[in-house]
Amino acid sequence: MRKQCLSVIVPCYNEEEVLSAFYQEICRVSEGLAGELDMEFLFIDDGSKDRTLPMLKELAASDGRVHYISFSRNFGKEAGIYAGLKNSVGDYAVVMDADLQHPPEYLPEMYRSLASGEFDCVAMRRVDRTGEGKIRSFFSRCFYRLNRKISGIDIVQGATDYRMMTRQVVDAVLSMSEYNRFTKGIFAWVGFRTKWIGYHNVQRTAGTSKWSFGSLLRYSLDGITAFSTVPLAISSLLGFLFCILAFLMMIVVLVKTIVWGDPVAGYPTLITVILLIGGLQLLMIGILGQYFSKAYLEIKHRPIYIAKEQRLAEPEKEKGNEASSDRE
Ligand code: UDP
Ligand code: MG
Repeated sequence: MRKQCLSVIVPCYNEEEVLSAFYQEICRVSEGLAGELDMEFLFIDDGSKDRTLPMLKELAASDGRVHYISFSRNFGKEAGIYAGLKNSVGDYAVVMDADLQHPPEYLPEMYRSLASGEFDCVAMRRVDRTGEGKIRSFFSRCFYRLNRKISGIDIVQGATDYRMMTRQVVDAVLSMSEYNRFTKGIFAWVGFRTKWIGYHNVQRTAGTSKWSFGSLLRYSLDGITAFSTVPLAISSLLGFLFCILAFLMMIVVLVKTIVWGDPVAGYPTLITVILLIGGLQLLMIGILGQYFSKAYLEIKHRPIYIAKEQRLAEPEKEKGNEASSDRE
């Protein structure tokens, strides 16, 4: 019987400091699994400005299992994951970070859950956030709670991008060709039987996190607009409430005028109300704008990534270095 193949997909952005440690670890784990599983290591160089790409080339020259795609610029981790899944050849695929925060020693356990046929997808969740900033953890938690409430898709608390899945799930994820890719939402949306394994947070081996507070905020807003239209409905609801309020005010003002006459007063109230309603209108137009801009980008059908160089597994190799790829 043909041995099954596992594609290990690793998005890398300026990871020269951890790359060789990661490679050593993954090789060690793959030796343990060698009896039952072949492996392909597919690194996605997300427009790194350091020595990540030359290092990947060296690895690929010495180890035939190493493949890579190098983007023409930084397209973001989500685009990296998409490119990896699209170009992987394995019967199974696993997505993991290069910084060893996704411990490779879980791979055998994950693989066995899939091989038994009981699950289609195995995902890792952090049970704690030790080592992570308090403020960052707090906002992260708030975001996932809010997202779960308004988009109706269940993103498990502490869910990471560390996932192993069958080819069927890979194809399902790839069939969602949207430009605004919120991978955690996409995985929840496609469904399938998912097993969750909890693990303790691991600190980055070396290098620094590529996420700033600003980029995380943008990520969370993208996550909400990608899967929920509830914010759009808020404006209709508020509009309705304000209509009722205005009607009540009208009655109050009429009664007041009839009973007490009409001394000119209430200037502060007037200004407050004008400011409040003006502010709300701008806010709602802003929300509309967010959705509109997302729709605008989708309509353009831009590629999710552009590859500058790549070395892929044999069947794909003939395609050579065509300077693009993507969406059918
Ligand atoms: N990454 C990427 N493109 C980016 C940012 C990050 O491919 O624009 C990769 C990065 O190299 C790493 C993974 O995504 O392998 C997770 O990034 P990081 O460790 O910085 O995130 P954190 O663990 O702090 O959430
Ligand atoms: Mg990390």
